[in-house]
Amino acid sequence: MIPAIPYIQSRFDEFNARYFNGSLPPVPIKLSHAKGFLGKLTFTRRKQGLFRGYRNEDFALRINARIDLPEELVQDTILHEMIHYYIAVNNLKDSSTHGALFRREMARINAEGGRHITVSHRLTETERAQAVVHKTRMVAVVHFKDGKTGVKVVPNRREHVLYWQRMALRRFAIDKIEWHLTDDDYFAKFPSSVAMKIYLIEDLSVLPVSGTINMG
Ligand SMILES: [Zn+2]
Repeated sequence: MIPAIPYIQSRFDEFNARYFNGSLPPVPIKLSHAKGFLGKLTFTRRKQGLFRGYRNEDFALRINARIDLPEELVQDTILHEMIHYYIAVNNLKDSSTHGALFRREMARINAEGGRHITVSHRLTETERAQAVVHKTRMVAVVHFKDGKTGVKVVPNRREHVLYWQRMALRRFAIDKIEWHLTDDDYFAKFPSSVAMKIYLIEDLSVLPVSGTINMG
């Protein structure tokens, strides 16, 4: 699954009640599209004044929405970040990022909930192999004057798209070019480039596109 904010929010509330006695204050939840991590807790560590120590504030809980993962792993990632949040919001001291305190909380929740939270923010090799990474592609659907239709994947940068469109209109007898921004894996088989090559599609019903971007 690729989690949406309402899903993460309701898991947060559920896990807060079940594993933290509802003690965690509400926290802004954000989606991340980073490649490097599954989840991340961000906050600011602010000095309270002379000799008065630090206070953590401006928390945000970020969960990856780029990788399609098993629901269990999404939930374990939310719980992992909630342990960081529990430690940081209560200003507790741990021996390291995933120190003794983090591991004690992790072991407690794993035992109570039959969960599989780990100290890693990244995918294991197996999880990586199972994960489906949806890449967003800029796709031109080209309608030729002779009635044929073709597709071309162009790097998703405005200057590439405009350049390719200009050159294609000059080179081929084109009736219309429709642009689609899509993460459908159907388009993975087409190379992404500004080369003047258009792949003819015989059966238009296979084209998984909807909604057109007007590139002017
Ligand atoms: Zn962590």
